[in-house]
Amino acid sequence: MRFRGVAIYRFNKDLPEELVSSLPEFIDDVNETVLVKGATSEEASKIVSYEVQDDVLRFGMESGRQVKIHNAVLRLRNHMERSWGAMYRLGIREVSLDDLTVEFDKEYRVSLKLPYIKGIEVENGRTVVHLVRLSERELKRPILDRLLKLFEDKEARTMWGGKIEHWMLLERSRGKRPLYTGDPNKVLEEAGLIKRFSRGQWLYTPMFVALLKSLSDLFVEEIVEPLGFREAMFPKLYPLEVGLKTGHLKGTVNSMLFASFPRSYDIDEFEDVIDLMWVLDTVPVEDLMRKLEPPSSFLCFAQCEPFYQFFSGEIVDDDALPVKWYDRSGPSYRWEAGGLYGIERLVEFHRVEVVWMGGPEQVVEMRNRLLEGYRRFMEEILDIEWRWAWVTPFYLEQAGEVQEKLEPDLDRPGTIDFEVWLPYKGDREDKRAWLEVGNISIHGTKFTKPFRVKHSRGETIWTACSGFGAERWLLAFLSQKGLDPAGWPEKLIARLREHKVPKPLIAVTYPERAEGRETLSWIVEKLTESGLLER
Ligand code: ATP
Ligand code: ZN
Ligand code: MG
Repeated sequence: MRFRGVAIYRFNKDLPEELVSSLPEFIDDVNETVLVKGATSEEASKIVSYEVQDDVLRFGMESGRQVKIHNAVLRLRNHMERSWGAMYRLGIREVSLDDLTVEFDKEYRVSLKLPYIKGIEVENGRTVVHLVRLSERELKRPILDRLLKLFEDKEARTMWGGKIEHWMLLERSRGKRPLYTGDPNKVLEEAGLIKRFSRGQWLYTPMFVALLKSLSDLFVEEIVEPLGFREAMFPKLYPLEVGLKTGHLKGTVNSMLFASFPRSYDIDEFEDVIDLMWVLDTVPVEDLMRKLEPPSSFLCFAQCEPFYQFFSGEIVDDDALPVKWYDRSGPSYRWEAGGLYGIERLVEFHRVEVVWMGGPEQVVEMRNRLLEGYRRFMEEILDIEWRWAWVTPFYLEQAGEVQEKLEPDLDRPGTIDFEVWLPYKGDREDKRAWLEVGNISIHGTKFTKPFRVKHSRGETIWTACSGFGAERWLLAFLSQKGLDPAGWPEKLIARLREHKVPKPLIAVTYPERAEGRETLSWIVEKLTESGLLER
């Protein structure tokens, strides 16, 4: 990789004759001292030509990857001021780097539409990127370094093509004969236990909530709490900066929902919009938009973001670690476009999000214990057919980071997905018949670094999280066990017997169709027989 460009220094006055005639010597000297410090001579920076015009000095520069050209330009600035400032009363007014090109030894196919890039040429096994002039302020920010990283990441992503995830089966339960093969999504809607509210959103009636909540409660009470995790409450509206740091905005911006604040609190400012609604009885969205600020936040996406933000800038010590919390205080939001279906794929869904933080061994050990907890939950408590897989992406898509990985090493950062077979979707050998219900991830320092979470002795701190998608677990459970409690496991029955299932809503027009009413009375009958229905 080679960088070439012209460093332009504008001084407070014309350069004196004496200085100009000493420039060749000066250049020889800095090429051997200032510009090679901390680098091998090949990869260091070098002045290859110069030109003086009144108060402007131009250096033609070249560099490899060690003292990159932008750092060299700034080093020279300081060195010249130190050497000439007092002697000639010279000061530097302005610095910039012009005609900057970066040459790579291979052909990159990536497309980059960035304000800093003027053009890209690809030929004969080389790629040359031309950049616009960079000001001193821009030279001081790591724009060039980030640009290079972006280049390599995009290239890696193109290279891996559609292979977004690397799926490797780790373990699966024995085959279990399902008690049911219908589609619970349809039954739940038809019987009126859930009602469509808006795109990917449903209203859950009390009868449905009893089931949904019981399953998550069981998970929390049987697995999460006994492992020492304690409940916290995380906000559900996140400032954009948080998403920039977690990497979600760079990786999954297409599936996030955004929120705007009003420009003014003064209701009079909205008068015209309000008048329009009175007269037209529609919402004039274009006019409304002008009254709102651009989005400054996004709605809860991964649910663990506030955890990292909480510890941002904090110094922790061994006494504080590990931190083990969970949050189940509100919904997550995702745009899934054409993928939305029933309670399987929602815009608004609910999750128990378990998060922990500690030294690498602590984090791995906790992950292993939670993993065993999940096994017990699936195997002993629910008795469903499951499998889990190592799905660490070849490149970590969400953060836009390249991380090649061919062998699973479970003690390193990575993700394990839990999947459950949905008999209504097909044969167990068909991979489309399996649904991801949850996962467990070790992040390493992916979040503690950008959020600057420090240990008092400078030791490495890792984080990890696990998302238990409530709707997905319930759907997976019902898909294999059906809606007759006679086939449900003891622990769930015991819980429902204690908390009882509320009676369903039956009205003149609800559930809408005769089949739905029939299904509902069958459900009521079965719940009553099992002694689970509230009287
Ligand atoms: P998928 O591959 O099915 O889209 P994901 O990889 O996007 O899932 P994660 O980002 O890992 O899911 O989210 C963690 C958990 O949140 C999932 O295991 C699932 O239980 C739940 N979840 C994610 N997206 C949805 C959704 N649109 N509707 C319902 N639950 C969801
Ligand atoms: Zn998480
Ligand atoms: Mg998804």
